[in-house]
Amino acid sequence: MNSTRPRRTAPHRLETLAVHAGRGIDQGTGAVAPPIQLSTTFERDADGGYPRGFMYGRNRNPGRAALEEAVAVLDGGAACAAFSSGVAAATAVFQGLQPGDHVVAPLHGYYGTVNVLQRIFAKWGVQASFVDMSSLDAVRDAFNEHTRMVWIETPSNPLLHCIDIAAVAELAHARGARVVADNTFASPVVQQPLRLGCDMVTYSTTKYLGGHSDVLGGVVVSRENDAHFEAVRAAQVYGGSVLAPFDCWLLMRSLPTLPLRMRAHCANAQRVAEFLAQRPDVTAVHYPGLPGHATHAVAAAQMTGFGGMLSFEVEGGKPAALALAARLALFTRATSFGGVESLVEHHASIAGPHSTVPQGLLRLSVGLEHADDLVADLAQALDANRAGTGTDNGIDN
Ligand SMILES: *Cc1c(COP(=O)(O)O)cnc(C)c1O
Repeated sequence: MNSTRPRRTAPHRLETLAVHAGRGIDQGTGAVAPPIQLSTTFERDADGGYPRGFMYGRNRNPGRAALEEAVAVLDGGAACAAFSSGVAAATAVFQGLQPGDHVVAPLHGYYGTVNVLQRIFAKWGVQASFVDMSSLDAVRDAFNEHTRMVWIETPSNPLLHCIDIAAVAELAHARGARVVADNTFASPVVQQPLRLGCDMVTYSTTKYLGGHSDVLGGVVVSRENDAHFEAVRAAQVYGGSVLAPFDCWLLMRSLPTLPLRMRAHCANAQRVAEFLAQRPDVTAVHYPGLPGHATHAVAAAQMTGFGGMLSFEVEGGKPAALALAARLALFTRATSFGGVESLVEHHASIAGPHSTVPQGLLRLSVGLEHADDLVADLAQALDANRAGTGTDNGIDN
């Protein structure tokens, strides 16, 4: 940034980077906290130039440039572009493709990304195949001569299946395809896809990066400032779905606490998962931090924490799941995730019509409340469900 003093040291640990990257003392005022620059237009030189590097708010804004620098640093990337939503960020990545290109995407990917591919890009001639990426053979078989991109999302929603990022990236690169990971569920604190071989990472910053359920946004981070990133930047600047100055500022305010928040989310989720796993009335718990989870080994190898998301299944299908969600006091019934407050979602009723998610499944975004309080809340709701639905008959349990 022009107006800030350059960093004097090169700190390496994530906590330190989260506090310092993209920041500095404002040279005009001495302000310690980052300023917000709302101006949409910037003064030109007498000769017509823009010596300060800013011309018009859609092209570039000081706060957005600072945010992009900070997020790029956190992910170990060379460049970053910030968008008005997570799906706008994904859209920009696909806009780097040509008509006739083919994408391999995960079977259980985020529904909004599936929408972008099927409802927008299909009619512009970009085709997509959706495969179970826990099988490398399935990924290999989905390739055709037009495949140019593999889209990874891990852990998956809502079953928290983890894909071996390095293995998929190696396979894709051997066939000349680019590899992009939607890292929204994990955050850069617990998973770094660029270091595992991916070319780009996307986030819905609406989730953990924002972390307070009050700002919609998305970013693309690229390992190289290459031609594909130039296309992403063009989609941002010419397409125009840029992140507004105040939203950039909110995200900058959130980033310094991201490492601390993520570790607390992980610890709380682990506690909740272990509690649910020993309940006889819970038929399945999906959390990669449990040794019994189908992809625990993959997660343990590529993540430094297992994240704050989990899902579990109760006996009695949809009525029991809805009743349980209604009995929870600390978990608000709402979609989305990654905020300080815990949320519960009956996923089958919000997922797309083709979803195969079990009707008895509830997804939890485990927040930053005390773990004992969250466990107690789940215990009282499960107990009340057993009493209320008559399953406490001494036979099943
Ligand atoms: C929420 C989400 C998105 C979309 O982000 P928006 O900010 O809602 O547009 C993309 N990917 C994943 C994994 C998400 O959870």
